[in-house]
Amino acid sequence: MKLLECSSELSPYSRKDPAPMTLIDGKVVSQLVKDRVAGEVATLKAETGKVPGLAVVQIGEDPASTVYVRNKNKTCEKMGFNNFSLHLDETTGQDELLAHIKDLNTRPEVNGILVQLPLPSTIDSQLILESLDPAKDVDGFHPVNVGYLATGGAKLVPCTPAGIIEMLDHYKIDIEGKHAVVLGRSNIVGKPMAHLLLGRNATVSICHSRTRDLPAMARSADILVAAIGRPRFVTADMVKDGAVVIDVGINRVDGKLVGDVDFDAVAEKASHITPVPGGVGPMTIAMLMSNTLEAFKRSQ
Ligand code: NDP
Repeated sequence: MKLLECSSELSPYSRKDPAPMTLIDGKVVSQLVKDRVAGEVATLKAETGKVPGLAVVQIGEDPASTVYVRNKNKTCEKMGFNNFSLHLDETTGQDELLAHIKDLNTRPEVNGILVQLPLPSTIDSQLILESLDPAKDVDGFHPVNVGYLATGGAKLVPCTPAGIIEMLDHYKIDIEGKHAVVLGRSNIVGKPMAHLLLGRNATVSICHSRTRDLPAMARSADILVAAIGRPRFVTADMVKDGAVVIDVGINRVDGKLVGDVDFDAVAEKASHITPVPGGVGPMTIAMLMSNTLEAFKRSQ
């Protein structure tokens, strides 16, 4: 399939079949979120002299983490947030990291703390995540926030699934009553995604590596979210005509980024689809800033 146009919001691509297909443009939606958040931050600054503060904690020099953290720091500064990020040496031990987090937990000017994963294997990641003040846990990974999400009173919600809901809403995609199938059950994407969709009254199925006949499950989806980390795993025969397809996957193949969905073939059947790159990816950082603003407002 040839894509004729790709940036405008709600613009169907031309294709052979008459049903219009809409590209879900994460760059457009994430910019709208960032504009809203930056606007609120500017107003807060003018009215109170205070702005939200974010601390991204990175240990070591993992190249992918370094790129993500650099982007987060840049976005933070561009949007008028205070940046309290820490880049710690790869020899940093668990107790030292816990001491840094304890300090960030107690500082009132720090409203959000994010510990960049993966951590070195000598550090217990779960222990670290649990050491964060849940009110500053802008990744939404602390068991307290996971519990709030599961029981319907979500406070700080993991950024990637929160961004997907934002995209569905922006494109006015009805969730209620739909069959949503989530491929992947990780704590950072699959499970919170399922909870959010359930909270919006979808009928939700979660598939994973032990699911029997995953293609049949996927084919029954009105909304299909692929978050498994397998390049082009979702093929056209696994997608129902007119389904909404959200591709969370980020895989590097021959130096190129590809998603978990075989985009060209699946785009022929989907009513809406996210590209990789330019789909879910940009939403994650926008939602991080939105969560940090939320944490700031709750702290006041
Ligand atoms: P994880 O590796 O933590 O989880 C992968 C999930 O996929 C697991 O539940 C696993 O099942 C399931 N899975 C793996 N292979 C198969 C298979 N062949 N069939 C069925 N299920 C399978 O990954 P994440 O959730 O952290 O990330 C998923 C993808 O999303 C990755 O590509 C990651 O890079 C990307 N990502 C993108 C983000 C963004 O901002 N766009 C943010 C976060 C992640 P089981 O539990 O049984 O092992």
